[in-house]
Order: sequence, then C-alpha cells, then structure tokens
Amino acid sequence: MTTLTNARIVLPDGVTSGTLHIDGGRIAESSAGDTLDLEGRYVVPGFVDMHVHGGAGASYQSGRAEEARRAALFHLAHGTTTTIASLVTGTSDELANAVTALADLAAEGLIAGVHLEGPYLARDRCGAHDPALLRDPDRAEFARLVHLGAGHLRMITLAPELPGALDLVRDAADAGVIAAVGHTDAPGDTARAAFDAGATVATHLFNAMRPLHHREGGPVAAALNDPRVTAELINDGVHVEAAVARLALAAAPGRVALITDAMAAAGMGDGDYRLGVMDVQVRDGRATLADGTSIAGSTITMADAFRRAVTRLGTPIEEAAAAASLVPARALGLDSRVGSLEAGKDADLVVLNDDMSVQRVMKGGRWS
Ligand SMILES: [Zn+2]
Repeated sequence: MTTLTNARIVLPDGVTSGTLHIDGGRIAESSAGDTLDLEGRYVVPGFVDMHVHGGAGASYQSGRAEEARRAALFHLAHGTTTTIASLVTGTSDELANAVTALADLAAEGLIAGVHLEGPYLARDRCGAHDPALLRDPDRAEFARLVHLGAGHLRMITLAPELPGALDLVRDAADAGVIAAVGHTDAPGDTARAAFDAGATVATHLFNAMRPLHHREGGPVAAALNDPRVTAELINDGVHVEAAVARLALAAAPGRVALITDAMAAAGMGDGDYRLGVMDVQVRDGRATLADGTSIAGSTITMADAFRRAVTRLGTPIEEAAAAASLVPARALGLDSRVGSLEAGKDADLVVLNDDMSVQRVMKGGRWS
C-alpha cells in the first residue's frame, strides 16, 4: 500500500495534480501505508510495447527463457510494464519452439503474448526478414502455432496480397489472434479487404509497405482512414521522420501506437548482432542488415519513443502517453487491466523527470 503525493498525473484527457493511491497491486480510490512525495514529477501509465524482438543482447527468437527474461527486464527498467514478444520469420520448427517457450512465459506473466511477424510476408517488402524463409499463408501451420501458443498467441503480421491471406485473417480472428497488415506491397483495396476480413492493426506503418502515393494510397491511407485499425509507429527518428510521424498522429487521433520494434542491440551500443538468421550491424545506434540493404529493427526503448514524441514531435504529454500505453493496450484487448491510471487497473506506472527521462518504474504495485 502506497500513496504517491505531489504528482502530476497524466490521464487520457489531460494532466491533474494530486495524489495516486495504490493498494493490492492496483490503483485505488484510497490507501493507507507509506507516502512518497514525487515533488511535482509527472506520472504516466506504464508503457505497452506491442512490437519488440529483444534487448540487452537477448532475443525472444532464441526460445530460451533466460534470454526472454533478460529482454523483458531490460525494457521494464525503461518503462515497458506490458510487452509482447515478437518473432521474425523462421522455419516452422523454429517458430514452434519459440512459441511454445514464450507461451510458458506469458502464462507466468512475464510477457503479455507472442506476435508472429511473418512468415507470410511479401518478398519485395521483406525488410530484415530472410526472403528464403518467406512462404504463402499456410492455414495448417498457423493452426499448429495457435495450438502451441495455448491462448498466448496475440498477433500475426501478414501480407494480405498473398494467396490465402484473407482466409488466414479470418482464421486468426476466429482464434482470437489479432491479424496485422504489414510487410506488404498491397494496394489500398487489398489492405481494405483485409481490414474488412477482421485485421485490426497496421504493422509499423510506412515501413516495409507500399508507400503512400496520392493516386494509390496503399495500406498507409487504408489504415489511417479506418477507425477499426491501430497503426504502429516506430518513433526512433530513423524509421519515420518527424514530419511524417506528426501526419500519422494527426490523421488517426487515438489510433497510433508507439512501438520500439527493438532488437537485441537495444541497450548494448554499436556492434554486430543477429535478428533471426540475419546478420545485423549497429552503427551510431542505427541497426541495418550487414549488407546495408535494409533497416533492421531499432535500438530504442519505449521511454525513448515516448520522450521523442513529446520533445521532438511536440505531441501533448497526455497524447504521447496514450500512444505509448492506452492505444496499444486497447489494440491488444488489455485495456481493462492496463493503459491508464484509473482506479481498478494494475498499478503499472512510470515516474518521469522534467526532461521526460524515466525516474522510476512500478509494475503491479512494486517498484522495479
Ligand atoms: Zn519487427
């Protein structure tokens, strides 16, 4: 039981000064016990990262519990209190092993589920995925992965123009798995068909998809115009420039989710790494395939994505906090538990310094 006093509490519709009560791991109407004076610091809801591959040198792809734990705890220290574990394209057996291992960690509460980024992606928009491993949608393979996920497979990114993709979108929706449109060369009408079939997310909007053209808006316009769709945005200043990030936030208020798409190099500095089977080099914090042909994920944390929204994009703090928490929580169907500082929700929060850097992180009522 804790009471945080003298806080600037960031709520979805604005900032209020006052006191935040925590009791039994939840935000409460009142509480007894310790009092902590936050000296006027901002408190935002814990960040929700719906697209992240690893960090601190560790990768979710490995299927090793200690690695997954290291990645999740690294991001927790930077404010991510709810995380999905994303897997890049791999062989069927590799994905089956990783999904099985990660489902156990989701059952334990370390992660909030698994995101399959692939393997049903467009070859000409494969980004840092191994083109040799890409394949057409395979309903039997997907059904097996759903089964192995034991209720913890949360999302699959696929290219809707591939043969059988729309059937797979419907299978995903039936199985309670979010279908996300991404790594796609689809024109707008094909993207819209996927959204009509039940897809509700656009994976890292702008990146690894047909670009927006004024005579063919492609998946970008289809996603931004569709009130059912949440658009992920990698807000690292490398993947999407500030002017375009601002356009997306303005075009789809309350529907843009900041993500990291971070890979193992996050928190590690420059060097040589792997993303799935691909060799990746990080120079000046920028991750690219070793042959330089594609950006290969980011090296940021959600704290970086959030701070950049406020300080570089000029996004009002309550909108940046929502983009980093409530919007992804809603997209994942987790907003009854997390995503805002409301009584009854989990006591997941981030205390910020004046420069928007992280001072302290609480998950489930415990400081981490
Ligand atoms: Zn990714």
